[in-house]
Amino acid sequence: MGELWEGNLHYGLWRDENDTSDFIDAAKAMTDDMIRRLDPAPGDRVLDVGCGNGTPAIQLARARPVEVVGISVSERQVARANESAREAGLADRVSFEQVNAMDLPYPAESFDGAWALESMLHMPDKVQVLSEVARVVRPGGRMSIADMVYRDPGDGAEDTGERYSTVYATLSRLDEYGDLIERAGLVPENIRDVTKETFPTNAAFAAGLRSRRDRFVEILGTEGYELLIGNQEKIAHMPELGYVLITARRP
Ligand code: SAH
Repeated sequence: MGELWEGNLHYGLWRDENDTSDFIDAAKAMTDDMIRRLDPAPGDRVLDVGCGNGTPAIQLARARPVEVVGISVSERQVARANESAREAGLADRVSFEQVNAMDLPYPAESFDGAWALESMLHMPDKVQVLSEVARVVRPGGRMSIADMVYRDPGDGAEDTGERYSTVYATLSRLDEYGDLIERAGLVPENIRDVTKETFPTNAAFAAGLRSRRDRFVEILGTEGYELLIGNQEKIAHMPELGYVLITARRP
């Protein structure tokens, strides 16, 4: 799926309903927002938690004179991301390693900042991951997060707990995210609900999947493809699914 969307594996961010950006530009705008909130100084060393194909890390290194270490559990992603860094002429500043975010092999305070661009949603124990990040980032260092969350859809329906587990078992709830961050020893500086500003992504994803139907069927089989499309449509119609941007700091 890497060649689709220029390797970006995250939602787009649109300013408002008058923003007519296409999906690729909105995906880049999301990464730009991550960069702006992290605001690294020249020479800083940044940890990219859940690096995907390396596209966001490369965008960061092009925008700012920093060093980036990206991690993923996928060996294939890491190989592809390192190849992209070489092709971009950035291999001296941008590198990727196969590492589990739950258990970072880095010494304490060895990074100036960190980010997690749509990777926390895959991690069952967010306090564990955030504590690891808090350990390897120096005091005063910042972390920016973009994540999918469950939120109160405001429809007055009874909260049985069940509606919050139908798509992703490991999503956190928006109203408890600040607490998770504090329990990990970080201080939340800003928590912004951007469900509306990211919503056009659902239609863009579905269109992207449909335009490459043959390729996806080849990889996933007809059933797998139908499941993916079905899930995508389900997500687009779940009012309890939201998207949040968070900036936190290690005290
Ligand atoms: N940030 C990238 C990729 C998002 S996809 C982008 O925006 O394009 C989610 C990423 O999180 C994948 O790279 C996946 O391998 C990674 N990931 C999921 N669980 C992880 C874990 N426990 N440790 C490290 N990476 C993880």
